Amino acid sequence: MKKPFVTLEQLKEITNKYPTPFHLYDEKGIRENARRLKAAFAWNKGFKEYFAVKATPNPYILKILQEEGCGADCSSMTELMMSEAVGITGSDIMFSSNATPAEEFLKAAELNATINLDDFTHIDFLNKVAGIPETISCRFNPGGVFSLGTDIMDNPGEAKYGFTKEQMIEGYKKLMGMGAKYFGIHSFLASNTVSNEYYPTLAKILFELAVELKEKTGATIKFINLSGGVGIPYRPGQPANDIMEIGEGVRKAFEETLVPAGMGDVSIFTELGRYMLAPYGHLVATAIHEKHIYKEYIGLDASAVNLMRPAMYGAYHHITVMGKENEPCDHKYDITGSLCENNDKFAIDRMLPNIDLGDLIVIHDTGAHGYSMGYNYNGKLKSAEILLKEDGGVQLIRRAETPKDYFATFDFSDVLKDMKY
Ligand SMILES: *Cc1c(COP(=O)(O)O)cnc(C)c1O
Repeated sequence: MKKPFVTLEQLKEITNKYPTPFHLYDEKGIRENARRLKAAFAWNKGFKEYFAVKATPNPYILKILQEEGCGADCSSMTELMMSEAVGITGSDIMFSSNATPAEEFLKAAELNATINLDDFTHIDFLNKVAGIPETISCRFNPGGVFSLGTDIMDNPGEAKYGFTKEQMIEGYKKLMGMGAKYFGIHSFLASNTVSNEYYPTLAKILFELAVELKEKTGATIKFINLSGGVGIPYRPGQPANDIMEIGEGVRKAFEETLVPAGMGDVSIFTELGRYMLAPYGHLVATAIHEKHIYKEYIGLDASAVNLMRPAMYGAYHHITVMGKENEPCDHKYDITGSLCENNDKFAIDRMLPNIDLGDLIVIHDTGAHGYSMGYNYNGKLKSAEILLKEDGGVQLIRRAETPKDYFATFDFSDVLKDMKY
């Protein structure tokens, strides 16, 4: 069973001060999980997690992760700015971007971030914009399909990212010619994997590539970045990843491939987003309508604006009706938001306890790619983010948008100047 990390009493207290909907984050869960990841890779001296900022771009969350030893994986100007503002700079930033605008390369270079190039042509582009730094990383795309055993996990041959093998070799040579001294390899081959095999399999591929690159180019390889992709069990009963086993699997591949090649000092980096945050976030909403037509509907005060994954991917997110955890799930509902989009449904044909208007609804596993994917469709406003602190207190870490925020981009004009907010 999936259990919320807050009680109904705690939520009632929070909603006295902050109206629903809001995203709630569990500081204790975030910290404990970050420590487990660190322990799983403690065998590697240079190990570092660069939290994928896009998953949960909130400075308070970045700060917590920074305190746990994480850096930041950024892919845009504002992510770079947010990292800088919380004091994550230099080699604590991995800039893993694609189709990168010149000003973002420039900003990354100014911050001394480690730049992870997405394409061979970006070598000349970066050289023109900001020069080639001493340490640089290149993103690898092996093409074809990526499988674990007999399961096809993803389709790198159809993915827009990365260099081909030949381009990696030529790229390293070219970069060395332009003054680069230390190299990294990055690859992201499958998303939300719930398998202890993903990282070890990817590691093996990248470690073999590292040995080949070293042989063919003479480059000094400093780090291998396994990037994101370690998933979480969104469904109850689905087995979770065992991060200790994953770390151990990567260690085995490291000792089989890198150590014999004299590359035992290579650092392992990760850029996890979902694994770091998803389980430690709830979207908290209130049931505000019920509707009985061809199906039974419950309308929430939250919508796809707050959590887009169900609408976008048909993704499953578990739902708890607070206070009714032990009641029978004998009602079949579609749980909807208010957007004028029929895919604005958090759940379809979900068996749940009888829902009364006013019930508090927890939507699970929204801590990553939740708030951040939201948009402003229908002019709906984005919600607050609240931190449930380790001591049980709560802290507002982002206020809810107001109409004034929504209209702020017309501030150059006087057309709306008489609007009353
Ligand atoms: C999205 C992304 C990540 C994080 O992915 P998760 O699935 O959240 O772990 C890491 N690195 C890069 C380059 C990404 O684009």
